[in-house]
Amino acid sequence: MVTLEERLDGTRLEGEELRNKVSKVWFAPVEDNPSKEDVAQKTLELYQAANFRSILEEGDLVAMKMHFGEKNNTGYIKPDYLHPLIKALKDAGVKPYLTDANTLYRGERSNSVDHLMQAYAHGFGPENMGIPVIIADGIRSKSYEEVPIDGVHFKSVKIANDILHSDVLFVLSHATGHGGTGLGAAIKNIGMGSASRSGKQNQHSDVKPRILREVCRACRLCIKWCPVDAISMVDGKAEIDESICYGCAECTATCQFGAIEVNWEGTSRALQEKMAEYAWGAVKDKRDKIACFTYLIHVTKLCDCIGRAQPAVIRDVGILASYDPVAIDQAAVDLLAEAANKDLFYDMWPENDYNAQLDHAERMGMGSRRYELITIGD
Ligand code: SF4
Ligand code: SF4
Repeated sequence: MVTLEERLDGTRLEGEELRNKVSKVWFAPVEDNPSKEDVAQKTLELYQAANFRSILEEGDLVAMKMHFGEKNNTGYIKPDYLHPLIKALKDAGVKPYLTDANTLYRGERSNSVDHLMQAYAHGFGPENMGIPVIIADGIRSKSYEEVPIDGVHFKSVKIANDILHSDVLFVLSHATGHGGTGLGAAIKNIGMGSASRSGKQNQHSDVKPRILREVCRACRLCIKWCPVDAISMVDGKAEIDESICYGCAECTATCQFGAIEVNWEGTSRALQEKMAEYAWGAVKDKRDKIACFTYLIHVTKLCDCIGRAQPAVIRDVGILASYDPVAIDQAAVDLLAEAANKDLFYDMWPENDYNAQLDHAERMGMGSRRYELITIGD
């Protein structure tokens, strides 16, 4: 098999250069359980410290890519965190809007109507935020563009049209663990989060879950969430029809009894690499037009797609900002490891080593794992 390194020709020298680069990451620490006002003020201070104003031109359409939180989830980035930042963007003369793309699994965000209503239910409506919410891939996720890339897994990726065609991308990520990728932060927010539903499906194509009959409690929750009706009850236990299942992995996160498992060996790495290639496709034409914020607040073992409240796995640490999605993910991992006194994400998901997404994103030329941390407000 041709390795990625062998495929890196002259066109990727930029990636080599980036690998040797030390990116700046700004960090605003917070107390445990900070007030919303404190987080909002620090978000603004990070915007100012990083001088994100410098990438904005009057009239720019600014996509603020985030995750509005599945119904009953409580970990998502709160609307109140964003008010001063949105005011600063408006003062700069640009046109910000909040956005995400539709999900693969059923839930409350798999089409734009439900997705908008869920965003509004969590407080992201225009009357509260002063800006619109636009679901970037159309009501049934058919509004996407094939972006050519030179990846190992993909030669083109399906990116939601509105994210692709915005002038500037603000990436607002909540750092969490993830059952398939180990870590969910900026790379995942961009890569999985900007993909159309078909693009999300393409990324999950290697995932093949199976149900442990002896553990299944027949609660039927996985049946409700499977987007293609691949699960049914057989002799009183859930069973997956492999001829229908396309590996979205949502059932694994849905089952609260641990009855659905995936043999992640070799699978998580491929999933993470595909995700990194999607992220690259979303940002490769926005290299100097991207600003990332990552919230290390109420960090949970699973992501905000989970439709229930989850306990935090570590005390709150702070907020990060960077122009570099790879560097900000590395800094998130490192700061949380320092707070936990262990490699938190690897400890939670050793079978899904998160390093795969960071390595691959760096190799693709998206950014650098080397960074300089600049703490503000000390
Ligand atoms: S969610 Fe888990 S316990 Fe419930 S039916 Fe599915 S496999 Fe069984
Ligand atoms: S059975 Fe397959 S398609 Fe259905 S939720 Fe699970 S992984 Fe996705």
